[in-house]
Amino acid sequence: MNLQLATQSLKKFFGYDAFRPLQADIVQTVYDCRDALVLMPTGGGKSICFQIPAVTLEGTAIVVSPLIALMKDQVEGLIANGISAAFINSSLSALALRQVEEAAENGYIKILYVSPEKLVSHGFQSLLKRLKISLFAIDEAHCISAWGHDFRPEYTQLKFLKEQFPGVPLIALTATADKLTRKDIVNQLQLQDPAIYIASFDRPNISLTVKPGQRRYEQIIAFLKERPNQSGIIYCLSRKSCEDLAQKLTLKGFPAAHYHAEVPAALRSKTQEDFINDRTPIICATIAFGMGIDKSNVRFVVHYNLPRNLEGYYQEIGRAGRDGLPAAALLFFSYADVTSYREMFDQGDASPEQKALKIAKLERMFQFAEALVCRRKTVLNYFGETYDRTCGNCDVCQNPPRQFDGSVAAQKALSAISRVQEKVGMNLLVDILRGSSRREIFDQKFHEIKTYGAGKEYSFDDWMFFLLQMIHIGLIEIAYDDRHRLRVTEEGKKVLFEGKKVLLAMPQPKAVPEERLPRFTEKTKAQLLKESLFEQLVALRKQVAQQQGMPPYLIFSDATLQIMAEKRPLSDQEMMEVSGVGERKLQLYGDAFIGSIRRFVLEKTSNGQRVTGSTQLQSWEMFKNGQPVEEIAKIREISPFTVMSHLASMYERGEMVDIGQWVSPEDCDFIQGALPLFEEPYQMRPLFDHFEGRFSFDQIRWALAAFRRINK
Ligand code: ADP
Ligand code: ZN
Repeated sequence: MNLQLATQSLKKFFGYDAFRPLQADIVQTVYDCRDALVLMPTGGGKSICFQIPAVTLEGTAIVVSPLIALMKDQVEGLIANGISAAFINSSLSALALRQVEEAAENGYIKILYVSPEKLVSHGFQSLLKRLKISLFAIDEAHCISAWGHDFRPEYTQLKFLKEQFPGVPLIALTATADKLTRKDIVNQLQLQDPAIYIASFDRPNISLTVKPGQRRYEQIIAFLKERPNQSGIIYCLSRKSCEDLAQKLTLKGFPAAHYHAEVPAALRSKTQEDFINDRTPIICATIAFGMGIDKSNVRFVVHYNLPRNLEGYYQEIGRAGRDGLPAAALLFFSYADVTSYREMFDQGDASPEQKALKIAKLERMFQFAEALVCRRKTVLNYFGETYDRTCGNCDVCQNPPRQFDGSVAAQKALSAISRVQEKVGMNLLVDILRGSSRREIFDQKFHEIKTYGAGKEYSFDDWMFFLLQMIHIGLIEIAYDDRHRLRVTEEGKKVLFEGKKVLLAMPQPKAVPEERLPRFTEKTKAQLLKESLFEQLVALRKQVAQQQGMPPYLIFSDATLQIMAEKRPLSDQEMMEVSGVGERKLQLYGDAFIGSIRRFVLEKTSNGQRVTGSTQLQSWEMFKNGQPVEEIAKIREISPFTVMSHLASMYERGEMVDIGQWVSPEDCDFIQGALPLFEEPYQMRPLFDHFEGRFSFDQIRWALAAFRRINK
């Protein structure tokens, strides 16, 4: 089996022109009948690694996946691409099960998804023996490890696959696996000398931003205003904040639904369906939401609260931008969250070691949030990947901190902490520094200390920003076991009493309200055209999806619609060149989308806008409506010669017309036979001269068009 066929199939079925890094190697490994372990981030393109071998090899591929909710979508997606696929899980009726089994036995199914429970059942085992199996793929392979976070006991039985089918290649795939889990996967599945592929976990299209948690709601509104109609997830820690936030956003004109473990199951799945089908753009959810969401056009993930560890953070933001288009991850950070987690961990019944581990991970999480180095670098380094550049797509890279001599500010804070006998937390300390008239301050006579009101020159947020840094560099610490009061450390004492200098990062300038921002970047006409066509195509996709009862992203991805909006394909041939349009999709949806693009182009033109390709299209439409060339020329006030060139160019682009009316097949051959004497791009005049008037310009034009159409 060779890779050329694999590449052809990639275009034919999925509409993609090339494999991503590693995909081709992995396909080749399966062809070589070797086992493989594949680690790729969410959205990295794991499925292609087993789907392409599955469609090119003889027999049926068995794909084990624990996410029953996802199977249906995955199978629908494959069928929509013209691949015969089916699934077997507990949701199937006995009759449906029988039908799938029969189809598989008769060799009609190339890819068969199965849940781990069914895989180990007797019925399925005996079916397996009757099939010709091309390969096994174990998706979400980390579920096999008791060390991982989604341990599934049924997965541990999968070792029988290698025992009973030693000659069939097995490929295990996952997006999360540390070294221990990796070893577990290899051992438990009894992989034989597996090839191990670890892709970079970088998701460069996701921008990373961390913001202080003050006035989150306002910040979210501003964030959403910049992203009209986009789809995204907002993760909240508590069920109540999911509900409150969803309600407030909806009232504000950003339709949102909430999702958490206490929502009744039926409503939960409806909420999920509405999200997947682009009916509800925003979901405010606890981390219960997301496993089993394959939607490729999630444009943003917001963390309303700090995630409990970087693994969780990275997995959650990974749900954005699977289509590779720009997506945003925004995280709000506050010490209150850290405190809540600590309380949660303390109250939980985990062993002391487990608690310590949780706290250590939480610490790494908030170090990430506080740090003033490239976010991507920090997080990738955490996952053990060397990333020695800076990314340019995170808040730190885009707005590098400027440092100043913050010794005086630090001294004020440290002095205030010690003058109140280390009896206050962060909020109260800042209020003291800013001379607030809060009651507690007067009750406890804090207004009498020397540093009361000594820090009015900085805003509340600025002080918070400084204090966080002071914690980070070890000048103060939080007494978690004593009402989170602040304490001055030994290092802090050096600043306070020995005049040690402190460098602090300057607070970021406050964002200027949008309407007051100068508009530096007027959108170009081309951009505006593209955007409005994209919107039209999105609407069409939604309509088609509704008719088909399928999620819109399975019809075409956002990325594919973006290319259509940019390139404006007007014929089947041009449509086929769009990444994401394979043969089956062209057949099913080509006409509808080409029709929509044509209407768009014609409409713009009739409104007096110049759109590339539109003048050709106009002549073509008139010609197709039966108007002769002469008449078109008269109406459009152009020469018949130009009209003819329009028709020829449409023919070149893949339109059908009988060209015999302008050049006979023999003449066409004759003219084309002379082409090797000339250089590309071929010009009409030299050809005309070459034939000394034997052929007309029109004949030459059509012979050339026919040549280009075929050799495009
Ligand atoms: P994963 O399973 O690793 O999360 P998917 O297999 O769902 O990722 O792929 C993510 C997205 O990337 C999908 O929309 C998929 O169709 C697309 N994709 C995968 N491989 C390619 C490729 N070679 N070229 C273009 N797009 C690809
Ligand atoms: Zn960066």
